[in-house]
Amino acid sequence: ANPSEPVARARVLAIANQKGGVGKTTTAINLGTALGAAGRKVLVIDFDPQGNASTGLGIERADRTVTSYDVLLRDTRFDDAILSTDVPNVDLVAATVDLSAAEVELVRDERRPYRLRDAFATLTRPYDHILIDCPPSLGLLTVNALAASHAVMVPLQCEFFALEGLSLLLRTIERVRKSFNPMLQMHGVVLTMFDRRNNLSEQVATDVRSFMGDRVYDTIIPRNVRVSEAPSHGKPVLLYDFKSAGAQAYAHLAGEMLRRERNLAAA
Ligand code: ADP
Ligand code: MG
Repeated sequence: ANPSEPVARARVLAIANQKGGVGKTTTAINLGTALGAAGRKVLVIDFDPQGNASTGLGIERADRTVTSYDVLLRDTRFDDAILSTDVPNVDLVAATVDLSAAEVELVRDERRPYRLRDAFATLTRPYDHILIDCPPSLGLLTVNALAASHAVMVPLQCEFFALEGLSLLLRTIERVRKSFNPMLQMHGVVLTMFDRRNNLSEQVATDVRSFMGDRVYDTIIPRNVRVSEAPSHGKPVLLYDFKSAGAQAYAHLAGEMLRRERNLAAA
């Protein structure tokens, strides 16, 4: 299917890493919020059966009636799954635990890697950015997200095995690029939960930069307790405590991302 006009205009970014707890959801929520604050129209797609992005954007479970599961498996029109949130300029396609059945339900579907990309043809609302919050695996959901995206952003926690996990993820991205989506770009690696008092954090950051060069964002997201408190209030940290170090880092990341996209477009 040809992508519809609005999706052709939107930049679709998969936020992926097969490891859990590295900051994917936090990045999707707060990058989305910062882009919204900059006047961009943003759609966050919660693509993790845990539904943490939906919770973090203040959408109660009872309100998740039409979700990413329906878009992916029930041929529900994209527009019908879009919820508005209290975050300015940020809409959401929510997730529920139903989504965990996708892998099994799609076993016999010949277009299974393309389900999300095909579904984009039914999205008619105009967005500037679509952010897909991937689950912590390299299974079919992440493959669908990568096959439907222009670029991938990888949050990476500065810890001992970070580089090994990154190599595996890069191989998967390469495989998806070859088989399903030659347009897919590696947008960059974002170092998250960085702890300045920890020498290992510094060492891992140095190693990742020597391995990935300028594909690592200059912005580093510090470990910050306000970031971890915000989801239980159903708010992005940018709205929960704008002055916190975590919120400021995400605002900075959005600025850097927009600059990089302008440079990519000019190249
Ligand atoms: P993932 O989506 O990769 O599983 P999350 O974004 O859900 O990771 O983050 C995992 C946990 O760490 C969450 O409880 C989140 O609130 C917390 N967290 C994420 N980023 C930070 C940070 N910069 N500082 C402190 N806690 C963080
Ligand atoms: Mg998550």
